[in-house]
Amino acid sequence: MKYNLTKIVATLGPATSGPEKIKSLMRAGVNVFRMNFSHGDYQVHQQNYNAIRSLAKDNGQHYSVLADLQGPKLRVGNFENDKVLLKVGQTFRLDMDKKPGDETRVSLLHPEIYAVVKPGMLLLLNDGQIQLEVQDFGKDFMNTKVVVGGILSNHKGVNVPDVVLPIEALTKKDKEDLAFALDLGVDWICLSFVQTPDDVRMARQLIGDRAGIICKIEKPSALKYLDEIIELADAVMVARGDLGVECPIESVPFLQRRIIEKCRVANRPVIVATQMLESMINAPVPTRAEVSDVATAVYEGADAVMLSAETAMGSYPIQAVSMMKRIISKIQEDIYYERAMDIPSLPQEKNIATAITSAMRQLVTVLPHPGCIATYSVSGKTTLRASHERAPIPILGMTVSDKIANRLALVWGVHSVVTKELDNLTEVAPIAVKLAKEAKLAKIDDEIIITAGIPFAQKGNTNVLHITTVK
Ligand code: PEP
Repeated sequence: MKYNLTKIVATLGPATSGPEKIKSLMRAGVNVFRMNFSHGDYQVHQQNYNAIRSLAKDNGQHYSVLADLQGPKLRVGNFENDKVLLKVGQTFRLDMDKKPGDETRVSLLHPEIYAVVKPGMLLLLNDGQIQLEVQDFGKDFMNTKVVVGGILSNHKGVNVPDVVLPIEALTKKDKEDLAFALDLGVDWICLSFVQTPDDVRMARQLIGDRAGIICKIEKPSALKYLDEIIELADAVMVARGDLGVECPIESVPFLQRRIIEKCRVANRPVIVATQMLESMINAPVPTRAEVSDVATAVYEGADAVMLSAETAMGSYPIQAVSMMKRIISKIQEDIYYERAMDIPSLPQEKNIATAITSAMRQLVTVLPHPGCIATYSVSGKTTLRASHERAPIPILGMTVSDKIANRLALVWGVHSVVTKELDNLTEVAPIAVKLAKEAKLAKIDDEIIITAGIPFAQKGNTNVLHITTVK
């Protein structure tokens, strides 16, 4: 099959900014563009956004644009000489003093942290490469002992896995970035360092339905409330970078598996992120282990796999996307792939919508030439339900708005198309055939399995199943 069911997310950055580079990424197979608001300026984000939308119009495809907010990441201040060497056993002070740091101290200008630390607590700096143990503390300082030493340079991140920090999920910068991203018209907002369900509720109040909310799972506290957070989110990201700092790194694979399975059960799209083809930042070919890592996420049924620095600042961004595409295509040929997608233990709600979609899944296995599934969905819910089944053929997701079509570009198997508003099922079938042929999702004699909700204008109502053969 030529069509990739698992989607590819590429992070934009200096290596991939501008229309020409974005066009090459589209050609290589990107479905979702990630703007990382930890970096870059508004002008660049704006130009890239405009380029994506205008190129999409030219090539008639739909792409999701995702704005990833930095979130409340704690960072140390600057050093007199930009960096220091911390030695095991030495003491090191973190405080609210804005003076540049040295071998004995540095600023940590986050008053919330001093309210919750306790002696014995571990602070992880620079992605966990440096570990400090809290000895004693006051309302604006803490003295620590260096447990694992190393070079600490300006502005490095600080993770505090053991506590729920009394910080709102959206900082002042995040709120400004959010307003900018929503005005641009992005399809998805990624919330970083979500700690509790209230963080998602607070974001929802600001975002409403202007964009879908993706919760990044990277804090132990988010794992504690995982079911509730998944329920409140529109999609989820397994943010393995910080997850592997905040939790023991060896737990990342099973957490990934558990999060994906829970998202699949709850019917929430899920992205696997970070270090997927990391060595391709500097090399045209990945390691075997990285190829296996991408393959694992595909076999686990993730909706999308993500590239970060590989496309943002790597030397081989297009090759990295092509490589992901090749891995996904290869796995789709494997007879075990279909079996892997089919999790018999997926609990099913008992209602008409579920009955229709599971019957649709069954049809794919018994029809002689199933070409694609076609959904007609105003809200996108019927299309999401069809994707949930992971039938190993593409889904032609017909909808009436660009907004929904773009958002669905993140979802497993979905090829979005905008159609005029349709009134009845007899109108849907010929349009589905025409569009499926145009998109090369079905050929002569293939069956197209159509699901929709009647009456059409009513949101989230799947109650029709129809088979048509391409003539
Ligand atoms: C991560 O931590 O894996 C992640 C995706 O977040 P960021 O790259 O924004 O730190």
